[in-house]
Amino acid sequence: MTDQPTYGFDTMQIHAGARPDPATGARQTPIYQTTAYVFKDAEHAAALFNLQEVGFIYSRLTNPTIAVLQERIAALEGGAGAVCCASGHGAQIMSLFPLMQPGCNIVSSNRLYGGTVTQFSRTIHRFGWRANFVDTEDLDAVEAAIDDNTRALFCESIANPGGYISDLDELAKIADRNGIPLIVDNTSASPYLCRPIEHGATLVVHSTTKYLTGNGTVTGGAIVDSGNFDWSASDKFPSLSQPEPAYHGLKFHETFGSLAFTFHGIAIGLRDLGMTMNPQGAHYTLLGIETLSLRMQKHVDNAIKVASWLENDPRVEFVTYAGLPSSPYYSRIAKICPNGAGALFTFAIKGGYDSCVKFVDNLDIFSHVANLGDARSLVIHSASTTHRQLTAEQQKAAGAEPNVVRLSIGIEDANDLIADLDQALQKSAS
Ligand SMILES: *Cc1c(COP(=O)(O)O)cnc(C)c1O
Repeated sequence: MTDQPTYGFDTMQIHAGARPDPATGARQTPIYQTTAYVFKDAEHAAALFNLQEVGFIYSRLTNPTIAVLQERIAALEGGAGAVCCASGHGAQIMSLFPLMQPGCNIVSSNRLYGGTVTQFSRTIHRFGWRANFVDTEDLDAVEAAIDDNTRALFCESIANPGGYISDLDELAKIADRNGIPLIVDNTSASPYLCRPIEHGATLVVHSTTKYLTGNGTVTGGAIVDSGNFDWSASDKFPSLSQPEPAYHGLKFHETFGSLAFTFHGIAIGLRDLGMTMNPQGAHYTLLGIETLSLRMQKHVDNAIKVASWLENDPRVEFVTYAGLPSSPYYSRIAKICPNGAGALFTFAIKGGYDSCVKFVDNLDIFSHVANLGDARSLVIHSASTTHRQLTAEQQKAAGAEPNVVRLSIGIEDANDLIADLDQALQKSAS
């Protein structure tokens, strides 16, 4: 989070936030597998606990391995700071926690990861929070859904699984007009394909479980703060603008400026909610990020080949990939995600639900799993798995109807992937 020269993406994905280990010279970032850190003396300890000095106290709050990952993700997203946590869903709660109080709501896109629909439509009610879901294609409806108790607008950059690209610039304008932050889940795009802060997002959340780690090894999450939001402009965000009793009346925004949200996320969020990432997990994610741009480019190249092949196959009803010229959102790629529309899309099999089940059971290279963003190609029949808890209406809004299969295209040889899909489609029709 120090001022550094501006490097290109490929340089930052390897170097941002890291330096040779000061104690040993270790070139790769060590896994600091420790719970606690020795204070220099009692005065040092007191300064750390008062947030007068930045340092390490206890790994529920901060850890040197995780600190490098936080800085790296913040740099790649062009943010002021980032907080890592135990999962993508943890990151969503951590992003809302400083903004919300009982009785507050968020306005959210209805095109979301299935688990997020469940989290927003059920679980957050227990905190006294609500989500008003809207179709973000209807900008008037988005504006109309915002009321005096709204504290954020939430969407996904590339929405999973329906092949949708959110018009971030337009949504950011609405958020700005209403004095609320735009929160963008950038998991399906990764910062290589989309950088929401450049389109006006205040906060970016990630499931680092997916493309950032890239090989299906660990769960993790991150919240990146742009540092651009004026939390003191209204009385809507007292946790950031008003005195914090648990820190002797310290005001986070006044004290930490553009790092207010990040410091609050660590000093209050991680301290009291405890959804902490572990240093081993951070290590795997750091290794993954070193090759992010190379992998994402290959994911995108493969996705275009596979989606084009499927679109021309008579057994396929439709393909919803924003990277195909037939997609209604194709024209948004150049603006929102100039390096490509990701590698996640759905397609419908003419044979319907039963054919989808047979298809999924007969694939060899594609693994049937509830995951995405792996180096391996993955498949899921959402209607019978991840989107099972949703109503038929919610399934349709999420693009997860019964005849639809979702693919997460990996970085294998595209020809092998196509051959595998071909033989499984053959069997699904028999
Ligand atoms: C996976 C995912 C999440 C949830 O992340 P976890 O790490 O599984 O908790 C949230 N949003 C999107 C878009 C995802 O793909």
